[in-house]
Amino acid sequence: MNNLLVWLWQFILPRRYWYRRLYLRSNHWQTVKRMYKKQACENCGKVYSLDLHHKTYYENGRSILWHEKKKHLKTLCRECHNKEHFERMTAWHSNKKQTMKVLQN
Ligand SMILES: [Zn+2]
Ligand SMILES: [Zn+2]
Repeated sequence: MNNLLVWLWQFILPRRYWYRRLYLRSNHWQTVKRMYKKQACENCGKVYSLDLHHKTYYENGRSILWHEKKKHLKTLCRECHNKEHFERMTAWHSNKKQTMKVLQN
């Protein structure tokens, strides 16, 4: 999908939706994948159904989208990829719980 078009939609659509439906289909992301996606999962070594995963979306408080570097990315198989996102989500939830506790005490 045309980069300029994707870029414009980021100001209109909800971020999550935009990221999944447009950003991950942009010509930019296809190029990034071609450049940085490895031949095997970096967690378990599987060589099929591989995805390129963002280890982070921000650096120094600024979004890294549109200018990802190698260090921001990780090749993962579907299974490890799901795990990674799930763990991140639970980490976020437990942080939130801790914060709630702090606020209540
Ligand atoms: Zn894996
Ligand atoms: Zn990911």
